Amino acid sequence: MVDSTKFWLVCPRCGREFEPGPRWHGCETCLDAAGYPHWLEVRYDLKKVDSTFLRQEGRVWDYAPLLPVHDPARVLTLGEGRTPLVQIEALNRELGLPNLFLKLESVNPTASFKDRLHTVSMAVAREMDRHAPFSRRQATPGLPAPPMRLGMASPCLSSPIREPPRNNCA
Ligand SMILES: [Zn+2]
Repeated sequence: MVDSTKFWLVCPRCGREFEPGPRWHGCETCLDAAGYPHWLEVRYDLKKVDSTFLRQEGRVWDYAPLLPVHDPARVLTLGEGRTPLVQIEALNRELGLPNLFLKLESVNPTASFKDRLHTVSMAVAREMDRHAPFSRRQATPGLPAPPMRLGMASPCLSSPIREPPRNNCA
């Protein structure tokens, strides 16, 4: 179990708190307009978090003290994160925002911002003794690439009607 004294989950609607372990749904007490459990937020007791990570490069796993894994030394990573901020002058002029910067997430290993999520979710899955992540190709670009590049099986589900076959979908 992850250290629940450092961080925990909270329903922003009702304030109910949850252990920071595996949880497949949000708050069952609070349903959204579509009838799904409300999402949860992570809360930290920053006095208990070692802040030396703030002096590192800024890749995803440099933030390990804030992530829900026991042993960050065992994670599979392709170097996700530390993407640059870029300023697009034409956009800034059009919006009248001279200091607007955008994160250039296409420099992540699979050119997707979802690389950040996937490296953490796969680490949590491995700690739960789950080693073959499933993905739906259209919904999760980037998920098959890291496990395939690291030699893991990565079954991929796709609809033959709605999604054309892809060579990189194992
Ligand atoms: Zn709630």
